[in-house]
Amino acid sequence: MAYDLDIEGIGFIAGQNSDASEGRQRAVAPTFTEDDLELDFSLRPKRLDDYLGQTKVKESLGIMIQAAQARGDVADHILFSGPPGLGKTTLATVVANELGSSIRTTSGPAIARTGDLAAILTNLEEGDVLFIDEIHRLNRMVEEVLYPALEDFELDIVVGKGPAARSIRLDLPRFTLIGATTRTGLLTGPLRDRFGVAFRLQYYTPEELALIVCRSAGILNVAIDQEGALEIARRSRGTPRLANRLLKRVRDWAQVRGDGAITEDTAAEALTFFEVDHLGLDAVDNRLLEVLCVQFGGRPVGLTTLASALAEDPDTVEDVYEPYLMQQGLMMRTPKGRQATAHAWEHLGLTPPQL
Ligand code: ADP
Repeated sequence: MAYDLDIEGIGFIAGQNSDASEGRQRAVAPTFTEDDLELDFSLRPKRLDDYLGQTKVKESLGIMIQAAQARGDVADHILFSGPPGLGKTTLATVVANELGSSIRTTSGPAIARTGDLAAILTNLEEGDVLFIDEIHRLNRMVEEVLYPALEDFELDIVVGKGPAARSIRLDLPRFTLIGATTRTGLLTGPLRDRFGVAFRLQYYTPEELALIVCRSAGILNVAIDQEGALEIARRSRGTPRLANRLLKRVRDWAQVRGDGAITEDTAAEALTFFEVDHLGLDAVDNRLLEVLCVQFGGRPVGLTTLASALAEDPDTVEDVYEPYLMQQGLMMRTPKGRQATAHAWEHLGLTPPQL
């Protein structure tokens, strides 16, 4: 496919999601918030060895990188998928570092026009890594220009306008595309097929998160013991971004209210103060469970009714609050509506009714 090389407003962004969709600033929001800015640079692992957890993914990447280096070739295009905050952007940087390559970072929504993509591609150098965050949000025209670039490292462009317009083919430097998406289902088949490998990142176990908390505490020069790290880990919803954010809050709390050191008790007390309970639920999550159990007596509740009871937007309830509650087995979506499970009643300290 050919297109007009008329370049305007190329937006390279820092590869992070905004928190706009969260509606309000939550301590447990998995997306990037201003709170994370201070931590992001210092705590982001740079090499595979510092990247903790996701063992299988790391091993496969290590093999891929070594093989590409031995062949003296660029690595295959890679797709990372998984919920926000699990380390997709970090892993892209780690891969580039291990390859000894430079990384160019952008995102699906920032590449609005085919000319924007052309500018990015023609500015790459041999062996570079191009990271496109939220790649499921690329528009179709842009996507079609990307296909020959990924397959044959070629770009068709139209120079000039009207009858004088002519199409030329440009050779691109060989590069590795790393795409990240939170929604694999929204990726088109042809785009998905162009990735040599795809990895789905999993939520981290509390033990893995505790290692991340200890590593971060070391970098931030915070005294923490094993139990303190585990307490923060348990409340971090399987997500390293949250673990680091909660560590920072507990650090501040321990500094002001304690002696600065983080133990299991300090962590528990601090996080209870910040309204993050022992399952990592915050006030809104608990309110949602209360609406289901108490206000509606455990009967199924429609999404819009539930959203109005919480004074929230239905999309926010569905995309932001419900996934973690369902993953924890606290609520379910049934054909008749949303319903709390026995585990939710237990969590609220209530006895489930005999419906
Ligand atoms: P995503 O791109 O999936 O939203 P990020 O790569 O931005 O997530 O990760 C969020 C933060 O979590 C990073 O700043 C990094 O400090 C931390 N992090 C993520 N994965 C790991 C890991 N495996 N080990 C240590 N820290 C991690």
